[in-house]
Amino acid sequence: MSPSATSNGTTNGATNGAHSVLDWHSFCNVIDGKLTTTEKTRTGINPATSEPNDPVPVSTPEDVDRAVAAAEKAFPSWADTPYGERRKAVNAFADALEGEKENFAKLLVKEQGKPLHFARFEIDFTLQIMRTVTSFDLPTEEIVNEPDRRVLVRYVPLGPTVGIVPWNYPILLACGKIAPALLTGNTIIIKPSPFTPCGDLKLCELGQRFFPPGVLQCLSGDDNLGPWMTAHPGPRKISFTGSSATGKKVMASASATLKRVTLELGGNDPAIVLDDVDVEQVAPKIATLAFLNSGQICLALKRIFVQEGIYDKFRDAMVRYTQTLKMGEGNEDGVFLGPIQNSMQYERVKGFFAEIEQQEQKVAVGGKNPDGKGYFITPTILENPKDESRIVTEEPFGPIVPLLQFTTEEEAVARANKTNLGLGASVWSGNVERANKLAAKLEAGNVWVNTHFELDPRAPFGGHKESGIGLEFGMGGLKGWCNSQTLYLRK
Ligand code: NAD
Repeated sequence: MSPSATSNGTTNGATNGAHSVLDWHSFCNVIDGKLTTTEKTRTGINPATSEPNDPVPVSTPEDVDRAVAAAEKAFPSWADTPYGERRKAVNAFADALEGEKENFAKLLVKEQGKPLHFARFEIDFTLQIMRTVTSFDLPTEEIVNEPDRRVLVRYVPLGPTVGIVPWNYPILLACGKIAPALLTGNTIIIKPSPFTPCGDLKLCELGQRFFPPGVLQCLSGDDNLGPWMTAHPGPRKISFTGSSATGKKVMASASATLKRVTLELGGNDPAIVLDDVDVEQVAPKIATLAFLNSGQICLALKRIFVQEGIYDKFRDAMVRYTQTLKMGEGNEDGVFLGPIQNSMQYERVKGFFAEIEQQEQKVAVGGKNPDGKGYFITPTILENPKDESRIVTEEPFGPIVPLLQFTTEEEAVARANKTNLGLGASVWSGNVERANKLAAKLEAGNVWVNTHFELDPRAPFGGHKESGIGLEFGMGGLKGWCNSQTLYLRK
């Protein structure tokens, strides 16, 4: 925030950020089309260097009231704006994001910690999601057409909504909510993670160029802010991405006013590697999918079941590849693993390392972490820890993964499904028919054969079991931002 910012008012010289050049060192709430400040601010750190980032607002309950009131005020005319006009506005927003891609990518490196080339990929995939969403039409459906009557179903917006975003893909996950929410005629308030607020604040500031005041807003704050927003009677929907534990709290809070919820939650994704794979080809892919974003992906591979006949060869190939992965600050050349994003998560991941000694787990590679600046964790593969151990039953959300040997396909499926989570799962085989048969038995919202984490925003995405409720992406995701309204027309 600029030193000249006034408390709970607009920043001096920037009343709505509408056409001014973005300032990458000043971060404000966006309320009712204005950049606003708060009395209290907080400062995050760069997780690779421990250097402080720029200060951000700490919103109060009054800020939430003001944002919800602005969202309610803006809703009727935005809902009345023709679909085609809303589509144009969202596309123009995507184009502007593309124009600022390098700045957002650099900010992601500084704030989130991920390597620059992966930060650029986050923006590219965000654009793909936004443009795919706007390619959809949502026409009224004719269910009955009889001589004396017609029955139609149309999709109407919900009203003011809230998007709650985690810290692992702050831009992508925010835009995955903003684009469908606004296209379908809702207004939305984004709440970033307190660990990665800057990118989302700047994103919504940029959005003010394309949407009327109150349509797209953003509030940053501390741990109180999320619960204030989910408990507020104004919003009609909470779209939440985060952990399963928090998702349950969000749903409980939303139940008081029966707000709609979409919950995209945690995963403990298994890969089942059958004995007919090309080991040298598959092992590096599996390692990549386990350690990408330093394991901080809901859909990262978190349990790798390998069939008996190839186990040793597969482990050796995976170890060799893992040893080539460079760890470091995101601007360094060739870095694959950045740091863990925040101290809380860093301590949690280190907890899994503490269990290596306590439980005498066998380490294939890694196992020891560097001292010094930054929350760095060495990519680590454990061999056959007990199925009851935390590294198998819980989501570590860091670059540590167990290899688990199995004998029969039935055994692999049973062990893969033995979890309360069901986000993604994959089967790897030289024989697609064989793999398909197993894939059909896996309990997960997204199942892949010979790949994993390969998402297509034209297709719906969501979790089974405690990995979530509802969908994002695809037509299913778009309809999740609407009430279905059935119209009976007697002629
Ligand atoms: P988190 O649940 O701690 O926080 C997510 C967001 O919720 C943050 O903005 C946080 O401030 C907010 N929040 C915290 N408590 C709240 C409450 N009581 N009410 C309302 N909001 C609250 O998750 P995280 O640590 O930021 O993210 C990691 C988790 O997210 C992992 O479990 C990961 O698997 C999951 N995730 C899921 C998906 C998916 O699409 N399924 C995608 C990315 C991450």
